[in-house]
Parts: sequence; structure tokens; C-alpha cells
Amino acid sequence: MSNKLVYLFHEGSADMKNLLGGKGANLAEMTRAGLPVPPGFTITTEACSAFFAANETLTDETLNQVRDAVRQLESQTGKRLGDPGNPLLVSVRSGAVFSMPGMMDTILNLGLNDETVEGLSQLTGNPRFAYDCYRRFIQMFGDVVLGVDHYRFEHIIQQRKEEIGVKQDTEMGAEDWKWVIGHFQALIREKTKAEFPQDPEEQLKRAIIAVFQSWNNQRAKIYRKIHKIPDNLGTAVNVQLMVFGNMGEDSGTGVAFTRNPSTGDKEIYGEFLINAQGEDVVAGVRTPRPISELREQMPAIYEQFASISNQLEQHYKDMQDIEFTVERGKLYILQTRAGKRTAGAAVKIAVNMVEEGIITRDEALMRVDPDQLSQMLHRRLDPHAKLNVIAKGLPASPGAATGHIVFNADDAEKLANEGARVILVRPETTPEDIHGILAAQGVLTSRGGMTSHAAVVARGMGKACICGCEQLKIDLRKKEMSVGDLILKEGDMIAIDGSTGQVIQGEVPLIDPELSPEFKQLLSWADEVRTLQVRANADNPEDSNKARELGAEGIGLCRTEHMFMEASRIPIVQQMILAETREERAEALAKLLPMQKEDFVGIFKAMAGLPVTIRLLDPPLHEFLPNMEALLVELTRMQMDEKTDRTELIQKEALLRKVRALHEFNPMLGHRGCRLGLTYPEIYEMQVEAIFLAALECIEEGIRVEPEIMIPLVGHVNELKQMRELVDRVAQEIERRTGKTVSYTVGTMIEVPRAALTAREIAEEADFFSFGTNDLTQTTFGYSRDDAEGKFLHAYVEHKILPDNPFITLDPNGVGQLIRLGVEQGRMTKPGLKTGICGEHGGEKRSIQFCHEAGLNYVSCSPFRVPLARLAAAQAVI
Ligand code: ADP
Ligand code: MG
Ligand code: MG
Repeated sequence: MSNKLVYLFHEGSADMKNLLGGKGANLAEMTRAGLPVPPGFTITTEACSAFFAANETLTDETLNQVRDAVRQLESQTGKRLGDPGNPLLVSVRSGAVFSMPGMMDTILNLGLNDETVEGLSQLTGNPRFAYDCYRRFIQMFGDVVLGVDHYRFEHIIQQRKEEIGVKQDTEMGAEDWKWVIGHFQALIREKTKAEFPQDPEEQLKRAIIAVFQSWNNQRAKIYRKIHKIPDNLGTAVNVQLMVFGNMGEDSGTGVAFTRNPSTGDKEIYGEFLINAQGEDVVAGVRTPRPISELREQMPAIYEQFASISNQLEQHYKDMQDIEFTVERGKLYILQTRAGKRTAGAAVKIAVNMVEEGIITRDEALMRVDPDQLSQMLHRRLDPHAKLNVIAKGLPASPGAATGHIVFNADDAEKLANEGARVILVRPETTPEDIHGILAAQGVLTSRGGMTSHAAVVARGMGKACICGCEQLKIDLRKKEMSVGDLILKEGDMIAIDGSTGQVIQGEVPLIDPELSPEFKQLLSWADEVRTLQVRANADNPEDSNKARELGAEGIGLCRTEHMFMEASRIPIVQQMILAETREERAEALAKLLPMQKEDFVGIFKAMAGLPVTIRLLDPPLHEFLPNMEALLVELTRMQMDEKTDRTELIQKEALLRKVRALHEFNPMLGHRGCRLGLTYPEIYEMQVEAIFLAALECIEEGIRVEPEIMIPLVGHVNELKQMRELVDRVAQEIERRTGKTVSYTVGTMIEVPRAALTAREIAEEADFFSFGTNDLTQTTFGYSRDDAEGKFLHAYVEHKILPDNPFITLDPNGVGQLIRLGVEQGRMTKPGLKTGICGEHGGEKRSIQFCHEAGLNYVSCSPFRVPLARLAAAQAVI
């Protein structure tokens, strides 16, 4: 039996997405549900694979089945392809498995030629309409199939408009479009050395090929890369009877969401254009009108649309993004899909849908992508800032941004790479601008609506965006924009508020966000479901407070070296390092002790009642000393200068000697972590004393503290054994001195392979394990993190040698195996051994999933990632 490669709409259904693509499957589903969908058929993604396998030719099997489907469509509609008496006109639409809005190509009005256009004109009694359709077809076919640049067509239209003195497309008459068509055909003859194809069968065949090929166009590839969509899926092609929104004032076309995609509010939200075809809305050529005007102008249509919109939402149990067209007072639905939304809207819609009884709590938890949550933590304009608002546009994607104006995507990328914050300002954006949007803090356009390209893409990326800000006059050539008399040039600072649409001159301070009630609700559901605890990495009271506010259940990693780096302490730290004798060192450490103690008091207070894991000093000491080259330059200068003070010179020379002595070829594998603690025990003693004194001070004030002292970089049980003795010794001494005790635990980081491999022995001495997966990844792969990322890792991921950057997503097969082994072996020695992870991976959703499966007790991540981790940990259970 032959393979079925073509499905009529009524033969498919929503669960056939892999075969029919998202658009095709939903068209099929809506057809079955009896909604007013123009008839048509879908050519499957399998046919697409066959097409690429056959060197980009359509197989006979595909062609035959397409021909059959066309015959069926003809008998369904009573029209015939190429029949001037009653021509069948179709759209040829791309439709991938995962929606890639605007990334691939679509051709409308196919089937028109010099004869059928006359037929259409007579049949409808509307020559202007017929020629408008034909010129659109030539334009799209010319661009997509024949590769003639889009702007050349626009140029011809512009030329005609100037000749007859009109501005809008709608003001062009039948004769004008005829003139345009003549010039279009001449353009195509000149550019392709061939006539515009007149045979509709050939038109159809070539259009299908072009849509298949558009799977591999540059912008589609980039989009797939950003959204991690596999390259081998291919696209389906939908061939569908045309309906016409450009038949006059009783016709139109629009796009609407069943809920507000920006805020999540329950209201139909969208835009439409009277007397227009679909691409006019999406392309942002004319700025469309809000859907509320449809309600006034065509109340019956609006009511029908509202009821279908509700029906679709109930059916799919999710917010829908619906494309529709009205042809002479009759409504047609052309597409429905789950609507893209901001994180804020995603959370609100998920929570509201639970309240409305549409979905369950678990479903709601799965509806929100943890990665999106960082958007919720969007910054806002400082409400106290004085704003010089110069213009207002559509609030297309919330959040505020401030930066230098740039006028094209390449400049945006270049400046952002140099570390500048930029706002991309364009008349409108196209899929070619994606890299610029990615690089920019925010996007501002003068044309296009809430569903224009810029709006959709920015919302997806969680960037601030204002669209359709028509007061702006943008001059791309001069690289400047003006509002009234005010002229702003490239590089000038502006701020935009994507929640209000305000454009502001100058730089505006931004402030941190507050969390919505729905956000808190969703996370509290997540907390009920998850078994993995979530802690934060924080080194100071401020971060600790933030972490707690965001739901952290303790600190998983408090790095003490950051406290040493503080400008006022560096001289004392250096004094301690440069000390020639034990006494000298003790003197410097005595100065550091009260400072360290205060650090810990602040953190313990912020985390009152919750565990705090404090890691003793980890980096090599030379990190606290000046850079050797800089020192050499300085020294040479001093030696040449007669006025240099002798003792100062001697001090500098001593410093240089020390820097030289501490220099290491491989600091990452050098004198650091517990190796420091073993060779300079007095440093660790001071830190431990500071921890206990701080704890005692808090206990005195009635605050519960739970210090967990963590020894870094252990590779052999004896290292930990000695360090543990050191901690216990200090504890006893303090008890003797003060008569008070603090309860504490001592554990270790597992961050070199040997520690994981000998976890059974190490657990004898450890109360807890914390997998330091940054170092564990370095040491397992043998990659130096600081060098690998810039040098080869990028290429490794690009060429798929590694599936992911292992410093971002935990490598489950290598590093992950060591973690599993460590947990398993450690718990053989101590069944209740507490285990956690404190690398960057603790805030990454796939790594969190892994940690859940590996049976860890907690993950620890930066404070702002805590909500993400709470949700991801819940999703790992569901
Ligand atoms: P995209 O995936 O880029 O949204 P579509 O295939 O949805 O591309 O087509 C773009 C627009 O073309 C649609 O929004 C719709 O307005 C218009 N269109 C597509 N097919 C038809 C049709 N059969 N009749 C009328 N308009 C159509
Ligand atoms: Mg569409
Ligand atoms: Mg480490």
C-alpha cells in the first residue's frame, strides 16, 4: 500500500501534529468541530522529508496525491483550477510541527493568471478586487518562488501612487493595479529571463517546493536555534481555498487572542483591518485597528467570533491565537494555535484557568516554562524618576529598558558585544532583525501593531517592546529619529516602558519588580508538589534577604572569599598573605576576625531559622594580590624615579617576590581549597571562630542559627578528617572560653572526581555533601572553564560534538554519573547523608530535573533563579 502523504482537512485531527504540522492539525480539528474553515488539504511533513531525501524534488507519489486532493477540493467547491469561468484560488501555507510565526513562507491567491483574473473580475463584478488579488499573487510568488526582491515590487506600487497622487493601497483603482501588474510581469521577465508562470498546476507545484525549501531559510534556521527546535522535522504544506478580506467595506481580516497576551487578562484582544488580506496585518504595512472597533462596525460578526473564540479556548484548554477573515459579511477561521504570551500572562492565565475549572493545578504548573519566569522579575522604571516622555506607542511587551539608540540589527549586535546597552529602533522589524532584537535591551518601532513581528518576538524573548509609535519619524539613512522638533541621534540615550508604551528621553533608573498574586499562587502550588528543596547562593545579607523573599529555604553556598575582596579589607588581607612570621599573620587575622564575624551575623539574621552553608576560603591566595605585570611596570617606574622612597621600594620588591612565589601555572588545580586550609590552618581557624562567635551573638538575641561548615576541594578523606578536627578544636576552645555551645555540622564539596569515587570513605567524615558542579565539570571533562568557553566550547556545541554546554546544562552521562555514584556511596556509609548541588546548574531547569532524579535533597542557585528552581523542581515530580 502506498504511503498517505496528503490529508483533506476533514481527515485529520489535532493529535496528528507531527504529521500535519501545528497549523494543519488545528485546521483539521476545527473542520471536524464544524467551525467555518475554508476547505483544503495538508501535505505531510513526511512528504517534506521525502522531498529533501530526493534532492529537493517532489516525488511522484506526492505529486499524484496532491493532484487527487485538488480534484476533491474542486468537487467540494464547484470551482476548478485554471477555469476562467469559476477559478479555484488557493493559499499555499507553511506549517511546522512547532509554531514558527512568520519564519517560513506563504503564498496567497494562487491560481490567478491573465485569464482567470478576468474571470474573477466578471464573477465578482469587482475588477478592482480581482486585480488587487492578482498583483498580490505575483508579488508573493515573485518574492518567495522566483527570488525577486520584495522591495522592487513595493517600488513599482510606490511609483504608481506618486503618479496618481494617493497614499494608501485602498485608494488604488482597477486600472492602477492593472498598470502595476504589467510592470510586475516586466520586472519578472527582466530578473528571471522567463515569463510569469501562467499554468496554475505549475504555480502550485513550484509554490509547494518553495514552502518546503523555506524550512531551510536563514531566519527559520536562526529561529530554530534560539528555540531549540530540531532541524530535521520539516514543514507541512497547507493548500486552502482562498477567502477574501479585500472585497470591500464589508470584508476584512484580523488576528485575535482569546486573552490578553501581555497581561493575561480575560478579554478578547486583537486587531483587524477592513478591506485587506491577511499579510497586511502581520507585515505591519498598515497599522491595524483594535478589535473593539469590529464590535461597533460588524456587531454580529464580533459576537460570532467571540463565541468561537470561547469554544476554541475550552476545546484546547489554552489561550488561543486566532487568524480570521470576513468575506462579504461572512466569518472564516483560518488558523488557531496556543498563543505566545509573556511570562506574566502565562502565569496569570494558568492560575485563572485552574480557578475557572478548565485545567488542573498540575497542568497549570506544566504550562509555565521555568525559563520564562525570569521575565516576571522584570525591572520597571523607578517611579520616583522624573520622566521626559516624548512619545507614546503600543505597549507590546512589558518591562522597562534603557540604553543607547541604534537603528539596525547589526549595530545593535556589535555594540552589545562591546558591552553597551542598546535600544533597537526601527520603522518595523522583520525576521532578518532577530539577532539585533536578541542583543538589544528593548525594541521600539514606529509602525505595526500588537501582533507585528517585533511585538511577537520581543514577548517571546521577554524584552521590553513598544510598537506602532507613529509620532516617531525615523530616518535610517541619517541614523536619527525625530518627534516634532526634537531630534535624537544614534547613540543618544532613551528609555522605553513596554507596559505603558511610553518613550522617554535620557537614561532612567530601573527598579526591581514585585511579584503578582498569581505568581505567588503558582509557586505555592509548586511548593506543595516538589520534593527537592531550593536554597540560594548568597554571600551577603542583601542577597540573603532577596533569596528569602523569593522563597529560598536556606543558603546552599556562602562564598567567604567575596568578603575578603572588599576594598577596605584588601590591604589587611594582603598583610596577612605577605606576613613573614606566624605572629605577623596572626595580627592581620585578628583584624579580619571581627569583620568576618559581622558578615556572618548579617547573613544568619537574614536566614533566621534556616540552614546556612558557609564555605571556607577557596581561591588561591594570589587572587588577592596585585597582578604581576602591573607590579613590574610599577616597580620599574619607581626605580627610575629618583624621588622614590627607599622603604616603599623595598616593600614593593617584597610584594613582587611574594607574587612570584605564589604564581601558579595552573591555578585552577593549584594551591586552593582545603589545600590552603591544611597549609595555613590559621586562616581557616579565624573563619571558623568568626562563624561560631557570630552564631553565639545571634543565639543571644534569640535567633535560631544552623551553620553548616563546608570544606572545599576535598579529594582524599584525610584532608577532610584534618579539617574537621580543626573545626571541632575551635568549637571546643570557644566553648571553654564562653561556656556556650553552638550546634553545627561539617561537610564537604564534591568537586573533583576522586571525591565522588571515594564518597564512601569521605562520608565517614562528612555530615553533608554539596556537589560543586562548576569545578566537577571542569575536572571531569578536563576543561578549564575560563578558557574553554571562549576558545572551543562554542564550536563543540555548534557542531554537535556536545549536545549542550556542560557548564550550563549538567552533563548527565559523565558528571551526572559521578553525582549519582557520590550520593549512592555516601549514603551507604550514612543513610541520612544530606546532599545538594551548588553550581550554576542548580538554577537550570534540565539540571534540576536531573538532581531530582538523582535523589538530592536540595539545589542551590542565585537568588533571582529561586522561583525558577521551585517551579522546575515541581515539574520534575509531575
Ligand atoms: P504564518 O504562518 O506566517 O502566519 P499563514 O499561513 O498563517 O502564515 O498565512 C498568513 C496569512 O495569510 C494568514 O494570517 C491569513 O490572513 C492569510 N491567509 C492564509 N490562507 C488564507 C486563505 N485560504 N484565505 C484567506 N487568507 C488566507
Ligand atoms: Mg498564520
Ligand atoms: Mg569549587
